Amino acid sequence: MKNEKNVTATIGHFIDGRHVLDTARTQPVFDPATGLSHKSVALASKATVEQAIASAQAAFPAWRNTPPLKRARVMSRLKILLEENADQIAALITAEHGKVLSDAHGEVQRGIENVEYASYAPELLKGEHSRNVGPSIDTWSEFQALGVCAGITPFNFPAMVPLWMWPMAVACGNTFVLKPSERDPSSVLRIAELALQAGLPPGVLNVVNGDKEAVDTLLTDPRVKAVSFVGSTPIAASIYATGCAHGKRVQALGGAKNHAIVMSDADIDNAVSALMGAAFGSCGERCMAIPLVLAVGDVAADAVIAGLKAEMAQMRVGPGTNNANHMGPLVTQQHFEKVKGYVDQGVAEGATLVVDGRGLQVAGHEKGYFLGACLFDNVKPGMRIYQEEIFGPVLGVVRVKTLQEAMDLIDAHEYGNGTCIFTRDGEAARYFSDHIEVGMVGINVPLPVPVAYHSFGGWKRSLFGDLGAYGPDAMRFYTKRKTITQRWPSAGVREGAVFNFPSHR
Ligand code: NAD
Repeated sequence: MKNEKNVTATIGHFIDGRHVLDTARTQPVFDPATGLSHKSVALASKATVEQAIASAQAAFPAWRNTPPLKRARVMSRLKILLEENADQIAALITAEHGKVLSDAHGEVQRGIENVEYASYAPELLKGEHSRNVGPSIDTWSEFQALGVCAGITPFNFPAMVPLWMWPMAVACGNTFVLKPSERDPSSVLRIAELALQAGLPPGVLNVVNGDKEAVDTLLTDPRVKAVSFVGSTPIAASIYATGCAHGKRVQALGGAKNHAIVMSDADIDNAVSALMGAAFGSCGERCMAIPLVLAVGDVAADAVIAGLKAEMAQMRVGPGTNNANHMGPLVTQQHFEKVKGYVDQGVAEGATLVVDGRGLQVAGHEKGYFLGACLFDNVKPGMRIYQEEIFGPVLGVVRVKTLQEAMDLIDAHEYGNGTCIFTRDGEAARYFSDHIEVGMVGINVPLPVPVAYHSFGGWKRSLFGDLGAYGPDAMRFYTKRKTITQRWPSAGVREGAVFNFPSHR
């Protein structure tokens, strides 16, 4: 797509420590609150991506041999720079994503916590050592860097999700090529500048903006050893298959449809407040958002619906630049149409639309992609609004009779990213967390996103691969174990040729 007339700047790439522009193909970047575009993003050609890979490849030997503590200190300095520049980064996120500034700040802070964790890498990389596994024989395992790693990230956390990936990858001694979302590319480029300022050598982190052409180049180039992906499930599945077929280590985190169970004994007021934030925070554009409530019993269902209805009437929707708003716009016109289409679909399928946000107009922002929060009652498992990820401010309530019925529904769903239960019954909560087929579980906690020193990963079609994102899993993903067994022969231990398999028998 060519630039619109009002485009004034083109966002390029960051390769070998420098801004690089390749404008053969560009795409407009919109402010979702106004619907206007004042900038465009360059979509990297294969040659530009290859330039970034070559830069990462050239930087690898020296960076791999840089002492882990020195690599970690770059992360410590970056943490401080990110804190100092958090306002600017949050503003860049809000201008292109639309989320409310305070929420963008939260995203930046959670990203910084991953940088902080990466600064502990020397501790994590210490390896394993066993003395005297045989006569004068010692064995140790070390965790070696892979080489050039790549990351491909979604629009909904433009700063945080890249920070799940590259800080741990480079702290472990790898170099990196990042392909962020083309819908909101600016915050990542600012962070790449700060990484350089923190002392990251040119070429260790490269950023290429782009689309499928850039991704396909990363997936097929033999110099790229590992690929981390976060995005929707169909793309995650194809990235996993293509990357693995090209001999790469791949982790691909996909989409979600997270259910919250509300038991009849729950503190309903607390559950309702928690659901409001979990369903409508960031306009529902979170992979850990709660778009479905399974209310156990009609009493709980009626109370939840009444509570939500009352709280939704108080919601303030408007531009994300105003922190007084609870919810900003959806990310693009196309996504707005898609989400609104799901609401139409839910009505056509026979669910009861209790709160209809479709007609919302925000004064002074008539061309913004604003959709008011929507609430459905009587959602049924066969409906598309139950099955598919909507990724917008649409919450559906399903009425069930028992906890087991609720759990069976969750287990039968194709996604298994997050889930939660609201209850005062410890036995029910324990049974739920023990048996449910979902990777991240909350008990009276609506968004159980693990902190940076745990790892993040769903089950079923929410994650392709064996290791999750960030935390301890990231150290494993971005390194390969080498096990070395050593003997320094001395007169006492010379034993001549041994033809039997050595053992301690
Ligand atoms: P998306 O799948 O459209 O895009 C993700 C990335 O893939 C982007 O960088 C995009 O440029 C690239 N891409 C898109 N189409 C491609 C194609 N055909 N070939 C190669 N690359 C392609 O996702 P999105 O709309 O940016 O983000 C929203 C999705 O991400 C939701 O499904 C959400 O659940 C998911 N998500 C998951 C997690 C998680 O941790 N599981 C976290 C955040 C978001």
